[in-house]
Amino acid sequence: MIVATDFQPTLTRPLDTLRMDTLEKALHPFFPANQNNFIAVRVDATFKKIVYRIGGPQIRPREPLLELSKRQVVKTYENVAGTLFGFYSPPYTNGICVAGFHLHFLSADRQAGGHVLEFEAENVELKAAVNTHVHLELPASEEFNQELMQPDLAKDLHLAE
Ligand SMILES: [Zn+2]
Repeated sequence: MIVATDFQPTLTRPLDTLRMDTLEKALHPFFPANQNNFIAVRVDATFKKIVYRIGGPQIRPREPLLELSKRQVVKTYENVAGTLFGFYSPPYTNGICVAGFHLHFLSADRQAGGHVLEFEAENVELKAAVNTHVHLELPASEEFNQELMQPDLAKDLHLAE
């Protein structure tokens, strides 16, 4: 799934440090006031450490995410400038989205990037916006409707998104 937004941050906050596990707290007052909304997040910083993964390529059509995840590569960088961007999706949207924070990394030189697993950032500029309007487009194709999508697929998402 592709998620896009016209990012108009309503919260901008400089921080000395930020980690994945302090992100929710740093987004006060959006949490808990907007905990059931989608929240777009951008972090510009120097990353003391960043761990991210790059998904494996699809070899055949409709290959399950779990299969793709077996071909993924995990990378770690230290002391790299760059940007994290992505969304917080509330728990009730799991299955359509991946609940929680889903962030991607792009290095300032645009040479490295991927799905963020863990980070420790310094000289941070945190920006965020609450999204209350969500527009969802689904394929109407026969292929999309060939198999009934099961909620268990959401579990695979955590391994492969
Ligand atoms: Zn991702």
